[in-house]
Amino acid sequence: MKYFFTITISLCFYLVASTQKTYIWCGNLIDGVSNLPKKEMTIIIEKNKIVSVEVGYVKPAVNDKTINLKTKTVTPGWIDMHVHIESEQNPNRYLNEFIQNPSDIAFESTVFAATTLNAGFTSVRDMGGSGVNISLRNAINKNLVTGPRIFTAGKSIASTGGHADPTNGYRQDLMGDPGPNDGVVNSSEDGRKAVRQRYKNGSDLIKITATGGVLSVAKNGSNPQLTEEEIKAIVETAKDYDMKVAAHAHGAEGIKRAIRAGVHSIEHGSLMDDEAIELFKKYGTWYVPTLTAGQAVTDSAKKQGFFPEIIAVKAIAIGPQLKNTFAKAYTAGVKIAFGTDGGVYKHGLNWKEFIYMTEAGMPVMDAIKAATINAADLLGMKNQLGSIEAGKLADIVAMDGNPLIDTQAFGKIVFVMKDGKVYKN
Ligand SMILES: [Zn+2]
Repeated sequence: MKYFFTITISLCFYLVASTQKTYIWCGNLIDGVSNLPKKEMTIIIEKNKIVSVEVGYVKPAVNDKTINLKTKTVTPGWIDMHVHIESEQNPNRYLNEFIQNPSDIAFESTVFAATTLNAGFTSVRDMGGSGVNISLRNAINKNLVTGPRIFTAGKSIASTGGHADPTNGYRQDLMGDPGPNDGVVNSSEDGRKAVRQRYKNGSDLIKITATGGVLSVAKNGSNPQLTEEEIKAIVETAKDYDMKVAAHAHGAEGIKRAIRAGVHSIEHGSLMDDEAIELFKKYGTWYVPTLTAGQAVTDSAKKQGFFPEIIAVKAIAIGPQLKNTFAKAYTAGVKIAFGTDGGVYKHGLNWKEFIYMTEAGMPVMDAIKAATINAADLLGMKNQLGSIEAGKLADIVAMDGNPLIDTQAFGKIVFVMKDGKVYKN
């Protein structure tokens, strides 16, 4: 009998504990899918999932928790589709390649990850680093380190001398001649090997550099650097492993080759022309604009000695183009997902992208959707992320003020929940 009671009581406690819910009272709720905000709503969360969204401030049961955000604006956790979580641009970056061990990069990356999450970004797509980004993702998933959900490309894929050739500008006797395992490819065969190597290393997706770029130590910032055949081989192979392909591309020719070869998104897209815009629409390709990067490299290039001269010239030529290109693409109806190139500027300022997008003519609600439901769509995670709806993972943020009235509110995050766990309140 005694045992019976003990077991019954333990079972009751277990049931109460296991079904505890969290009620979030939201003064102003932007759910990621509706075109208008909703006033006085309650989000009900169980474990790591949203179980319902109710009108009014619903009273919780005795053992449930309440989070009062009656004076805040609540949105789904933001998703930055283009960051480099391992590093942050500074004048020593090119020297750091020779000084920093992977463990140094790892410790720094944990700080960048925490900063990003605290700024309201509950998910990020990491668009290339040394490979530490894969370990960082794993450590965050194991709850050992604080940071956003990371979907990472691992190391980017480029051609010899291309934007993501890690040895550009350095002594050949020190750096050697990297191949597909290091992300340097010069044929379709190499491309397939590089994709399979990334799959083996634990990448979630593939990042290629289809054209030159601003921050590599190389002369051309926009020329095509992979053939259409090579990109096709990469895309086809990635599909076998259920990985999407994102293409860094500034120049129009490289953008067009990448779209025709079937990549899922074009990153930056700085110099896209009308024909490229038509191709975006024809193929349903996403555009990830990274306006914050355009602004940051333009600003940094004006500081004497911040960049090597070869880079400063490209930054001035390409950086200022982005905002106009974005405005043109948005007006034309190209699908846009929010991405900033975090790491090219200071991590945590990712929210500035909202400011630049709206300055360029995108309505605030569309900018929020670009960072929530549309980003989730491009990730292939639309059924789990990107909106505040029953059944979705509980990634929820709140800010002081109303961004629909004053966009500076995006910089005033006061509450962050990821996967049902509160990280900032
Ligand atoms: Zn980038």
